[in-house]
Amino acid sequence: MPDQQSASDHKNQTYTFPDERGYFGKFGGKYVPEILIPALEELEESYLNAKNDKAFQVNYRKILQKYVGRETPLTFASRLTKHYGRAKIFLKREDLCHTGAHKINNAVGQVLLAQKMGKKRIIAETGAGQHGVATATVCAKFGMECVIYMGAEDMRRQKLNVDRMRLLGAEVLQVDSGSRTLKDATNEAIRDWVTNVEDTFYIIGSAVGPHPYPMMARDFQRIIGDETKSQLWTAEKKSPDYLLACLGGGSNAIGLFYPFLEDPDIRIIGVEAGGLGKDTDKTAATLSKGSHGVLHGSRSFLLQTEDGQVRLPYSISAGLDYPGIGPEHAHLFDSERVEYVAVDDKEAMKAVQLTSKLEGIIPAIETAHAIAWLEKLMPDTEKGEIVVINCSGRGDKDMATISKYLNSKT
Ligand SMILES: *Cc1c(COP(=O)(O)O)cnc(C)c1O
Repeated sequence: MPDQQSASDHKNQTYTFPDERGYFGKFGGKYVPEILIPALEELEESYLNAKNDKAFQVNYRKILQKYVGRETPLTFASRLTKHYGRAKIFLKREDLCHTGAHKINNAVGQVLLAQKMGKKRIIAETGAGQHGVATATVCAKFGMECVIYMGAEDMRRQKLNVDRMRLLGAEVLQVDSGSRTLKDATNEAIRDWVTNVEDTFYIIGSAVGPHPYPMMARDFQRIIGDETKSQLWTAEKKSPDYLLACLGGGSNAIGLFYPFLEDPDIRIIGVEAGGLGKDTDKTAATLSKGSHGVLHGSRSFLLQTEDGQVRLPYSISAGLDYPGIGPEHAHLFDSERVEYVAVDDKEAMKAVQLTSKLEGIIPAIETAHAIAWLEKLMPDTEKGEIVVINCSGRGDKDMATISKYLNSKT
């Protein structure tokens, strides 16, 4: 079997995916209503032009610098390092980006592309509201009309983010169908795009969706890994030995990992949300517990029932509570280049507290999943080695959840 071969021999692999049809190995593609195929083709062509257009790239970098606040620091976590007494631990500080997480890197890239394509109107869907806020932010900045679809249940749970989006000038449309959550909001956004494809650009917030979205999100997030590489070289004169990042749809993780994939000496680990435990029904550990299927326009792994219905995921962290995973991660899992593990709610909440007390950084609960894996990883590391963790976001947005959790323990 060809993938057995690639599995045993990732040392000679290259990772220049996707192929022309938008596949990462067996995963990816464009599973959308036929009427959207021309729109995806137009998007791909415009994106490839932008990618090779010096002026576009210079402008994108300039906005990341002057508006988002890049480059973000690579912080040596001295007390966490001392706590474990092994390899040096560094945090890549995406929590210091404008709006408090990495999502804005991708939102900036896609809104600039929308402008270049002459689109006037932006749509997006959001679950926990973080992608909605990032999208509303860049639309305000660039003067674009912005419509965000959100399930009624999510709007109730994430009222503050609804208020933020409205304050930023976005129209938030309530979705009352199905379970009134993310997948229903996604269906509505796709319906809107089908109807208004002439003047509307659909911004997808993670490394998911039909081709070319997973590739675009990766390319707009790889700045995380590119900066890490040069910052670590300046600080330590060496490459990292281990990379860690949490996985929702997979955009912050692929952003960190991508520039390092072809160096076989680096151990790369993606951390999924185990929820109440990856072997329970209450989990969001898609690669650990899911199977092949099609969701949100591409073939990948997903959590599903035996008859192929999407299973409702669960995690204490709203940003990891997603039943799918980007197709590039599915391929990196399949080819065994990247290890995928799961951390449950309790372990993540412990890491939130440890990082706050030892580093003066309150991480997002999503990020804390990656940090929590240090418990398992650090005993295997040695002095002189380096671990880089992507600090994907700050925990301020999670304070209500964190307070409730801590107060229930005392
Ligand atoms: C949205 C989010 C994530 C998960 O999304 P990815 O696309 O997997 O990166 C992780 N961390 C934070 C802080 C987020 O806001």
